[in-house]
Amino acid sequence: MNVTILVVEDEKEIADTLTYALASEGFNPIWVANGESALNTLNEQTVDLCILDVGLPDANGFELLKAIRRADISNSDVPIMFLTARAEEIDRIIGLEIGADDYVCKPFSPREVVARVKVILKRLEKQTATKTQNELGEFKHKPDQRMIAYQSTPIELTRAEYELLAAFLARPGQVFSRRQLIEKIWSTNHPSDDRAIDTHIKTLRAKLKTQNPHKEFIITHRGFGYSLET
Ligand code: CA
Repeated sequence: MNVTILVVEDEKEIADTLTYALASEGFNPIWVANGESALNTLNEQTVDLCILDVGLPDANGFELLKAIRRADISNSDVPIMFLTARAEEIDRIIGLEIGADDYVCKPFSPREVVARVKVILKRLEKQTATKTQNELGEFKHKPDQRMIAYQSTPIELTRAEYELLAAFLARPGQVFSRRQLIEKIWSTNHPSDDRAIDTHIKTLRAKLKTQNPHKEFIITHRGFGYSLET
């Protein structure tokens, strides 16, 4: 087992406790103390999970998470577990818009953190297993060529449609809000409204329909957003 876990935490004592607990369970922990180093590390090497303190010296953990998700790197969909010390932060994490996989409140027991890390990794393992059977069987995504094929036939996609489908395929079944999808295509502060997303979804849906007329790939979640069924 060689599972790399990035610990982003500016308090050395907490980081030490965590990395020690993770290493003694056979994980390969890397510690960085700020957001910039976190992004650099994610850009340079494969990371299987990221434990992210919300209060960092150079960045807010929430902003950092958005930056990671937006980044054009293979780690941009790394699972994230937040460390938080404040109740109002928990509200934001639980609110669907953040897109974290879990959170732990300070003070925490390192054992609890390790246990939760294992749960997340197990969940992902299952997702990956499903992926290779069903979804990658039908869809093939080659990010370096920006190409997505269905049953070996490349689908002709606009840039926006490609970004949307790639985002869906990275997290099958996950419901994305329109705002999240806008960020996938453009950026956080893009003035584009929800209707722009609906238009791209409509054209993407039509293209997927021509691949397989009997299947509804994109599911609409009323009042919230969309997910992909594979
Ligand atoms: Ca902190």
